[in-house]
Amino acid sequence: MDKSAKQGNIIIVSAPSGAGKTSICSQIIKSDKNTLYCISYTTRSPRKGEKDGREYFFTDEIKFKKMIKNSEFAEWAKVHSNYYGTPKSFLDKTLKTGKNALLDIDVQGGVKIKKQYPQACMIFVMTPDLKTLEKRLTLRNKDSKETIKMRMDNAKKELAYLNKYDYLIINDDLENSVENVKTVIKSLYYKVRKDKKYF
Ligand code: 5GP
Repeated sequence: MDKSAKQGNIIIVSAPSGAGKTSICSQIIKSDKNTLYCISYTTRSPRKGEKDGREYFFTDEIKFKKMIKNSEFAEWAKVHSNYYGTPKSFLDKTLKTGKNALLDIDVQGGVKIKKQYPQACMIFVMTPDLKTLEKRLTLRNKDSKETIKMRMDNAKKELAYLNKYDYLIINDDLENSVENVKTVIKSLYYKVRKDKKYF
């Protein structure tokens, strides 16, 4: 048997809003059958085009808090005034089957997952600089000036977490960035696991 044989891993992808994280994650999921997207629970309302059980499991605050009480989340956080949580059962089930679980979560969540799953791989996605981020947020025409300012302030706070991450992907070209994330994921299969007996 190949001693470096494939094992599932947790891949955390975090980024300031507008850096292109969601596009990267959805391309990875489409092209890599061994990597499954971890669908979070959230108390925020679905946006246009979002479907329950696809982007998120949409729920209310009472149910969400019950899930916290029942320890159903591997981590949860309040992001932009809504609750978000990663279902523990999905993570554990995915890892057991030898697949990767891809988590599109914020920096607070990323740090909490890493504490519980030290083998988790943390990827931070960013635009080449803050100016480009602001330009992208403005060009996508989705947010008001105040919201863009809030997102930019948040981006600066999120960047303070960068040194807790393992990899930085500068997303100036989507295709390139997807390839770079795929390379990182591939390398994980060959990583020596401290919790595994090989020989
Ligand atoms: P959005 O509402 O725009 O989909 O997501 C807002 C932020 O919440 C994004 O940074 C996203 O990565 C983060 N997020 C989504 N799901 C989770 C989760 O389960 N846990 C945490 N901590 N953050 C999440």
